Formats: sequence, structure tokens, C-alpha cells
Amino acid sequence: MNDLLDSLNPEQKAAVTLGEKSALILAGAGSGKTRVLTSRIAYLLQSDMAYPSEILAVTFTNKAAKEMLTRLSTMMPVNVRAMWVGTFHGLCNRMLRLHHNEAGLPASFAILDQSDQLSAVKRIMKANGISDEEFKPREVQNYINRCKEEGLRAKDAPINFQRGSAFREIYDLYEKILIREGACDFAELLLRSYELLKNHPLILEHYQNRFHFILIDEFQDTNKLQYRWIKLLSGIGEPGRRPNSVFAVGDDDQSIYAFRGANVGNMQDFVREFKIGEPIRLEQNYRSQGNILDAANGLIANNSQRLGKKLWTEAGEGDKVRVYSAPSDVDEAAYVVDTVKEYADLGTPYKEMAILYRSNAQSRVLEAEFTRRGIPYSVYGGLRFFDRAEIKNAISYMRLAENTADDSAFLRVVNLPARGIGAKTIETLINFAGDNGISLYDACGYAKGAAAAKLEVFRAIIEDLREKKDELPLSKFVDYTVEKSGLKEMYELDPNGSERLENLRELTSAATGYVDAEAIDEEDEEESVRDENMTALQGFLSHASLEAGENQAKADQDAVQLMTVHASKGLEFNLVFITGLEDGLFPHGNSMGSNKDLEEERRLMYVAITRARKNLYITLAERRMLHGTTRYSSQSMFLRELPEENLKWLSKPGYTDSDDSDDYSSGGSGYGFARGSKFSRRGSSDWSNNNYRESGRTYNSNMPEWAKGILGGKLEKQQENKIRAKIDNGSPYKSGDRLLHEKFGAGTVLSTKGVGEELVLQIKFDRSGVKDLLYRIAKKKIS
Ligand code: ATP
Ligand code: MG
Repeated sequence: MNDLLDSLNPEQKAAVTLGEKSALILAGAGSGKTRVLTSRIAYLLQSDMAYPSEILAVTFTNKAAKEMLTRLSTMMPVNVRAMWVGTFHGLCNRMLRLHHNEAGLPASFAILDQSDQLSAVKRIMKANGISDEEFKPREVQNYINRCKEEGLRAKDAPINFQRGSAFREIYDLYEKILIREGACDFAELLLRSYELLKNHPLILEHYQNRFHFILIDEFQDTNKLQYRWIKLLSGIGEPGRRPNSVFAVGDDDQSIYAFRGANVGNMQDFVREFKIGEPIRLEQNYRSQGNILDAANGLIANNSQRLGKKLWTEAGEGDKVRVYSAPSDVDEAAYVVDTVKEYADLGTPYKEMAILYRSNAQSRVLEAEFTRRGIPYSVYGGLRFFDRAEIKNAISYMRLAENTADDSAFLRVVNLPARGIGAKTIETLINFAGDNGISLYDACGYAKGAAAAKLEVFRAIIEDLREKKDELPLSKFVDYTVEKSGLKEMYELDPNGSERLENLRELTSAATGYVDAEAIDEEDEEESVRDENMTALQGFLSHASLEAGENQAKADQDAVQLMTVHASKGLEFNLVFITGLEDGLFPHGNSMGSNKDLEEERRLMYVAITRARKNLYITLAERRMLHGTTRYSSQSMFLRELPEENLKWLSKPGYTDSDDSDDYSSGGSGYGFARGSKFSRRGSSDWSNNNYRESGRTYNSNMPEWAKGILGGKLEKQQENKIRAKIDNGSPYKSGDRLLHEKFGAGTVLSTKGVGEELVLQIKFDRSGVKDLLYRIAKKKIS
């Protein structure tokens, strides 16, 4: 116990050892909020203030929940499963499985993820003759989710200002269909769980009597309904009841989910309604070196809407924040990967490095460069494993085995592999099912003619799976499903199917891993999974929907972490790159018109900066290909807001012709922007002269833009396109291509050998004869 407290500073200690009352810890990034929250749980248990079963802790991601449990179990022997630790969605799912009857759900209710939800909206619109040109399904989806987050059912939903009552009517249809299908979308998990508590006093009382200690991390990003859910569980304001302790930690400067309904006003409401008095403040930052912290503080000082906090560190100044500006996104990626490599060579593990970006679309070029250079990376929160088509297909069979009313799953696989069930048959089924209020699966039984036999084949498969799911252990059932559904054979026959088969095998491993994890939890358990009415299959299917792509990297894999800034919240890394610091990208173009949105973008940048422990790089590109178009941007306004004394602008004076090295430190690729160009900024000592290089050509920065365009831009563009072609298709050159080398002059490609880093071009130069050139090095000199 003393160990536990000794490692904390006095303010942290005071927070951890608070009595059984409610508190708000309001503190900046890296000040130990999450650590305080975990330590408090340990303290409550060790000092016998609480049994594990009395604790409910809310984390922002599944991964954070898992880490918290792991940390706790290393601190002490603890009955992990008796504690409820998870995300709001995870906890609500757990509660709904236990009380599905009262909640009006089948035991085996399916969870629709965002894309399932969108398909359902589209399907419902179509079935009701509402064209998706008139109303965008995505807008409808957002409307439904916003309503649910406000706690509003369709009957109480507001009339959309522009759309009149149409959205509300679609919401109403959607609500009915979901009930019939026994399915919950993400927002529904919360709303239903809230209603369950609200409408069932006995259940509410049970949990109020149970969870004496409620702890919430990242409180600034809770939405209204989540706050109401917490309030219900706390029993605050109920006459004659001593409310449970709610211990909330948060940072208003890191509130970045307003667009998703998060309500930073919850903090003020909490202080008022729970009679908090003064929030506890933590001011010492333990994460970042001085320059990084000062840069973050300097940036966020530009926001006007702040509760106000100070942050200081005992750590030294450390390195300045490096800023690197590249001519194009491809060069930016090359620079990032080069730098990653340098740090790796000096001993920084890959998994201690993160590349952050504002938009998911930015990851493609980065990923291509990592792949090309053979450096392991994983995209955190990117396309989830469970979102891959082949995985969704297999999961859909399992979902149907679990719940035949799951129309989303039905539609996905009824004709996959192809069984000759055509669009016409499906349409008839949908109409029939809709008219009769039954599931598509049940509607199959009424089909006539040739279609009937085909549908019967499908039904027989599902019926077989329904039997097997209770007989086979989970991982065997996964294998059996893949086989029996015909998916295995389908991918075996597909010449490009091997990766998909590989992923399906990975699904079996995921199932095995899932069961093992549950089993470990259960060792010192009285409450088992089954007590919670969740079979292994149900648990696994919930996991498939709720897992947010946080565990892409295999646990033991040392890989660079790529993620959006949003996904990086709460995490920390020794080395961080924030990429794409261009106006319109970061801050995002949508935010530029409104000060409120701009302040949210600035908070996002604040989150990004404060992820770094030791080294931080900020990069930008003058030219970027996004969504199929090339955009030219100027540097982000946020760069100008960072205190100059904490930055070091990197630039690359030209390299010499004789130098074939790929090493930046010796001036390798020589990109940068001159002072005075639209990309330059305040004077930098790094600039030794006005000459700079783009793609192997020396320009004088005084050269007019139009001349650069004619003399250089075109060639450079061609070269860049070739690099892009390479990223997408392998070698950018094929035999017979003519090219121009800076040193050897014009030549014809004879052949190409190898790929990626090893790609070698054999070129016959008109003047200098045949040469084998390593493309990786030569690329900067050819056009
Ligand atoms: P964020 O706002 O980004 O979520 P946070 O306030 O939750 O940050 P933590 O992640 O809890 O901060 O802590 C940041 C880092 O500082 C962690 O590595 C943590 O272990 C370390 N740390 C926190 N408190 C102390 C302390 N008293 N002594 C040493 N290290 C500490
Ligand atoms: Mg934290």
C-alpha cells in the first residue's frame, strides 16, 4: 500500500485517498489522471473501503479497460470480473445481457456497428420508397444517433429544421425494425440500458446498492445520456439515499468529441449537481519534456473557452520540437519513415513511436512507405479486423445462428457464396417480411417456385449451425462455420483469396484468444461468464462489434503505431510525429468558419502534442493528394501559434551530385522550402542559402512561381506520379521507358528486378552505357 502511495505527489495522493464522496479531478495532459484513477481503485480495495463488486469504472477505450485490469492485477490479487471496468458501450452491453427480458431484447441480441447501422437505414429507406437522393442515409443515421444520445425515442424526436418530419418518420421505422430484428446499434446500447434502469426500480436499486464507487476517465468527452446514466446509478438527489461516490477525471482542454455529442458542460453540471465544491487540480506533468509541454501550453493559450490550468514539469527541456516541411505528401512520408529508422537504429522500439494524422485518408501514403521500407506498423483504430469483408461474412453466419431475426446478417450472406438467389427474390422476401412483420429468415419458408429450393439450401446451413453452436467449443464452431457456409471453398477457388483465407484462420485464433482471456479471468471467480447470460459465442460476437480496432498489432509485435489524433487520446509514446499540418487539413476545412469548431481543432492539436514523451516532430506537405485530387496548401495556423523558442525548423540544404547516400543527416534528399516562399516562416538559423532542391533540381527561391512551374513543377509532378504508381503497382518503370537522370543523362530502361527497397533498374544510358541503379537512391535523380 505504501508503495502505491509513495509514488504519487501530494495532490495525487490526496485524490487517491479521498473518502467515500464525489470529486472532480480537473487536470491537464500527462498529469497522472489515469494513474490516479487506477491507483484509487487499488487503494479502495487494499484499504478495505470497497469490495471489487462495488466498483464500476468507465474508460474511453476497450484497450484502456484491459490495461487498467492488467495493472490492477499486477498490483494485488484481485477478482477482476467482479469489478465492472469497461467503456460505456461495453458496460451497457453487459447490463443488457443480464436483464435482456426486462430490456425487451432477446438474449442473443445482435450489435450493429456503424456500417451495419448505415446499411439498415438504407434498407429501411428503400423498402419504404424513400430515395437516398432525397435524404442522405448518413444524415439520417446521424440524426438517429443524435436523438438517442439526447435520450429521445422517435416519438419524441424533434422535427428536423430542414427536413421536416421525414427524418423522424424514418427513425420511427428504424426503431420498429430493430426491435423486430432484436438488434441494438451503439447508441441504442446506452439508451436501452438507461431506460432499463429508469423503468425498473428494482434493477436500479440493485445496482445503486452495488456500485458504491463509480470512476470515470476522460470525463470531458461524455455525452448527456452517459452523464444521466451515471447520475441514475449514483442515486444522487434521491430522498433518503446516500449517493454513491462518483470520481470523475478529465481535462476540458482535451474535449474533442463535441461533434459526436460529447458535452463538456457535463463538468459544470457535475460540480453543481454533486456539490463538488472545488475540483482537485494536478499541475505537474510527468510525461513530456519541457519544450514539448511549453509548445502545448503555448498553443492552447489561444483558446478562449477554458476552465484554466497550469502545467509544469521537472523534466529537462529536452529537444526542441522539430518541424519539417516537405514538397509533397510522398516526401513527407519518406521523411517520417527515414526518421523512424534513425531512431530505431539508435534503439527506440518501434512500438514507442506513433504517427498521428487528422484524417484517416492520410494513412495510405504513410502505410505504403512503411510497407516499401519493410518497417512493421499497425494502424490503430483503422479498418478493424472485424470489418474486413471476409470476417464480416463469417461473423454474419454466426450471428444468424445466434439470432435468425438478424436481417442485416441475412442480407449480407444469403447469396454468399453465390446460390443463385437473385435481387428479385430478395426484393420479394423483403416485401413479404415487411408486410407480415416477420424476419427475412422466416419469410424464406413462404417462398415459392425455384427460389424456394435455393433458399431452403441456405436455411439448412443456418439450421445446422444453430445446432452446432451449442455442441462445439467456440473456436471449433468458427472453423465449422467457415467450412459449412461455403466461404472457405469460395476463397479457395478465388485466385486472390489466400489472404482472405489467412484472415479467416486468424478469426479462429481470435476466438481461441477470446475464450482464453475469459478463462483466465474466471480462475479466481465466483461469477462466471455464464452467470451473466452471455455464452462464449455471444460474448465473442459482442466483442466483434465493439472492439474498435484498438488491438490490430499482435500483442508481441513491435510495430510503429499509426492513428488519427482522435484515437490517440490518453496514450503516450517516446517519439511522436504529427503529420499534415496544413490549413484546411489540420485545422480541418470544416472548422475554419466557426470559432467554436476551431477551438475544438486546437484542443485536438493539444492532445496530439501532449502524446509525446521525449521527441516530437511536426510535418507538413506543400502538395498533397487527397481523395483523388491534388491540393496545395499553406502551413497550418497552429504552427504559427506555437512558441518559436520551442521549435526547430528543419530544412535540407541541397545535396551534392556525387553523393548517392540516402541519409538525411548527410543532406540526402534535400527537400525544404526557402525563406520567402509561401511555405517559409520566420527566419531559421538552418537556412544557409537561398537555394533549395526539389526532386533533384536546384532552384533559386527567388525564381518566380511561374518559372518554377514550367521548369520544375512539371518534371517533378511526373516523377511523383511515378512514385505513386510504384506505391500502388510495384515498379514505376517498365522496360522501354525513357527517363532522364541528373548525372547520366537520358536513358532507356532495359529491365527491372526486385521490389520495394530492393528494386533495381537496369538502364541503358545514351551517353554513359548500361547501369544497374538501386531505385530507392536513384529516384531522386531521375525524372
Ligand atoms: P492524459 O490527459 O493524456 O490522459 P493523464 O493525466 O491521464 O494524461 P497519465 O497517463 O495518468 O496522465 O500519466 C502520464 C504519465 O506520467 C504516465 O506515464 C504515468 O505513469 C506518469 N506519472 C503520473 N504520475 C506520476 C508520478 N507521481 N510519478 C511518476 N510518474 C507519474
Ligand atoms: Mg489519461
